[in-house]
Amino acid sequence: MLPYLTDPQITRFHTRVKSVVEEKDRVMVSLQKSYFYPEGGGQPSDQGTLNGKPVLRVFTEGEEIWHELEAFSGLTINMPVEGIIDPEKRRDHSVQHTAQHLFTAVLKDGFGVETVAFHLGEQYTTIDTDREVEEEVLTAAEKRVNDLIGEDLPVSVYIRDKWNLGSLPLRKATDLATNIRIVQIGEVDYCACGGTHVSSLKDLRLFRVMQSEKHKGGSRLYFLAGNRAFRYLRDMEDTVRLLQKEVQVNVDELPFRVVRLREERDEYRKMVQELTARLGVALAQGYTEDTVVQEVDFEDELMKAVGLEMNRRKKVAVFYRPDGRIFLFTGEAKDARKIFESLKARFALRGGGSRSLVQGILEKPEEMGSLISQVYSALLDLEI
Ligand SMILES: [Zn+2]
Repeated sequence: MLPYLTDPQITRFHTRVKSVVEEKDRVMVSLQKSYFYPEGGGQPSDQGTLNGKPVLRVFTEGEEIWHELEAFSGLTINMPVEGIIDPEKRRDHSVQHTAQHLFTAVLKDGFGVETVAFHLGEQYTTIDTDREVEEEVLTAAEKRVNDLIGEDLPVSVYIRDKWNLGSLPLRKATDLATNIRIVQIGEVDYCACGGTHVSSLKDLRLFRVMQSEKHKGGSRLYFLAGNRAFRYLRDMEDTVRLLQKEVQVNVDELPFRVVRLREERDEYRKMVQELTARLGVALAQGYTEDTVVQEVDFEDELMKAVGLEMNRRKKVAVFYRPDGRIFLFTGEAKDARKIFESLKARFALRGGGSRSLVQGILEKPEEMGSLISQVYSALLDLEI
């Protein structure tokens, strides 16, 4: 049985190097005895050091525990080694993992929802369920988990063999015959598991479901426990406080204010569209010539409003800006696309449009002068 299973409290130990396998930019090291938790069952491995060198990953091959380190670790066969497991990381993983046991048990017993997958990440933990979980169920399950944390149920770990499992109501059947490690939470959950766990539910402190999303016919539920949950709430509070400062209302008024701001934005947007159209008509009225080619400082929308109004008055307009933006409004008089294609052959132009309207960008705005003289030629039907 792997050492971490029987002595999960050991986070510092002395041993010797058993074997070293050099790879391209990594080295794999096995030890005579290691208390590191190797990745598996949805839980990432422990982090820590061997003689001060960071352990990047720990995994098993059969009964062997391998520690992955960066190349040139300086570790050689039979060398004495001090292994240090990052206790904070171990504790954090144990908290999230125990929370998963509890959440899974509550969902199953209280709401008939089965957990089909589990993943413990560095930011959050997820479980996947066999069916979609409604918001009310999530709220109720979250409350139930926090109530159980409040009851501070003990978490006990013991070993059984197949023939003395007795009547233990295991959450999931196991294929193992011997050395079955049972993790029991009060009378709430009995689970065969090789992960790391806390010894009492009070260590979870707080449980929070962050979000849920549809996943393969069920739900993927994101949750946090312990310090992660407190950190999450603090971050949320900071965000809310920032928003509050920005829009100057109390927290309970915040959602209404945001809705109102969006409505106002839509109203202003509509108003700007209307005013732009009216301004376009007014500006178009100012041009007396049949063909206008002019540098302007209008935004795109206003260029369009003026140009389209010019076309409506059977006039042709070409507007351009110093930044390289150009609009050709030919209406029915000319084929704007054809002119644009001939310009594209000579200039670095991007864009396109219809027979009566083309918009583009000249990638080298300094060439606008010579481009415009070509436009004149095209409008006058000269060869270009
Ligand atoms: Zn477990």
